[in-house]
Amino acid sequence: MPGRVLVVDDVLPNIKLLEAKLMSEYFDVRTASNGPEALEIIQSEVPDIVLLDVMMPGIDGFEVCKRIRSNPATVHLPVVMVTALSDPSDRVRGLEAGADDFLTKPVDDTALFARVRSLLRLKVMMDEWLLREKTSAHFGVLEPGAGAQAVGYESGRILLIEDNPIDAANTRNILNRDDNRVYVAADAAQAREIVASTDVELIVCSLNLETEDALRLVSQFRASERTRQVPVLMTGEVDQLDKLAKSLDLGANDYIMKPLDKNELTARTRTQIRRRRFQDRLRDNYERSLSMALIDSLTGLYNRRYLETYLKSLMDSAVERRKPLALLVLDIDHFKAVNDTHGHLVGDHVLKAVADALTNSLRSVDMVARIGGEEFVVVMPDTSEEFAEAVAERLRKRVADTVVEIETADEPISVKISIGLTMRRDEDRTVEDMIGRADKALYGAKSAGRNRVVADISQSD
Ligand code: GH3
Ligand code: MG
Ligand code: MG
Repeated sequence: MPGRVLVVDDVLPNIKLLEAKLMSEYFDVRTASNGPEALEIIQSEVPDIVLLDVMMPGIDGFEVCKRIRSNPATVHLPVVMVTALSDPSDRVRGLEAGADDFLTKPVDDTALFARVRSLLRLKVMMDEWLLREKTSAHFGVLEPGAGAQAVGYESGRILLIEDNPIDAANTRNILNRDDNRVYVAADAAQAREIVASTDVELIVCSLNLETEDALRLVSQFRASERTRQVPVLMTGEVDQLDKLAKSLDLGANDYIMKPLDKNELTARTRTQIRRRRFQDRLRDNYERSLSMALIDSLTGLYNRRYLETYLKSLMDSAVERRKPLALLVLDIDHFKAVNDTHGHLVGDHVLKAVADALTNSLRSVDMVARIGGEEFVVVMPDTSEEFAEAVAERLRKRVADTVVEIETADEPISVKISIGLTMRRDEDRTVEDMIGRADKALYGAKSAGRNRVVADISQSD
């Protein structure tokens, strides 16, 4: 996993040391010797991760981190603070400034690479989601979102896996802050039960379980559909750095050393829950925007945008496979009168009923789209003209036979449709060529008295 790392430190030998370590693992390294210089580099060439010294003259690391977080372009840039300070209150201050993590000087190689790799993985995933969100915003269906900092961390649902009763009680007490709900499991079986029945947002797992290899458990959480996206925070002893680092490589998101510092655990918990909720929101937005971009919300049919893309690929595939492709344009007759007599809401109701009647009369390989107010298109792959005419006639009858009961009218409402039919031709270049011909045929059906099917008879050139 190659990545661009920015190392910021006011002491040159510190820079050189980290640079050498990172370059030996093929990272692309940039360096800065003070806060303003770092911010400038971040602006101009956005690195993938920043290793940031805390104590620097002028603007210190906390302040640099805050500024990174307050810039929308860099809210998600992973920041690891590198510090000689080992006081937990400094770590908490850093986490609150928005740092993702800490490394203490002298920097241990195992911890360094495990942290950097884990944060880079996270960044790749975040970039992907943010890109999708940007695309949806571009389509005009979604507002671009704010950063993860804007998401709440309260009332989290946390699974604690700890079989030492004293540690379990102690950890639980800390986790209970922020209105969290904490579920405690003493072994893997209990953990699985809780995970199956509860929508857990964070798993806090002890590295030292009597009856279970905690690292194996982490792998299992990552492999299982239900827990793949749930962040895992490991707890372990100071002399277990290698194993803790290994847990990050297996997919855990963070670790913390025992004895647990209250504020540090709280800060790390908040970060993980926030991030998880932010990712959930991005995913929901994305899925919603996808369906908004492609589906007509009134009828549930595909919209014009989707039809155009999909029809093009159906046309190409028909050429490739030398199969006929039929297309119908359907328009409700005198629909304006329905609205004028019964109101727009009833009109909507009728549109929905017509859409259902069409869908229910077609094969699953056929596609129905609503391309305008009361205008629909049906595309039928591998369908001859003769067969298409029979289908069109069936659709016409089926719609005419559909009655919509409404409370405000004595009589149920029914509508009729006119249909224009055309087949794909070798000279067709765009989807408009086909739709245009079917539209002309539809016009013919309207002028011939409506409630009928007319096939396009124009000559091909
Ligand atoms: P024709 O037989 O020539 O097709 O006559 P028509 O009245 O169906 O055609 P026209 O194009 O004059 O009117 C279409 C009407 O469809 C106008 C508009 O009020 C109505 N309409 C378009 N979209 C919607 C919608 O989403 N809901 C409802 N209720 N009505 C719609
Ligand atoms: Mg009409
Ligand atoms: Mg119309």
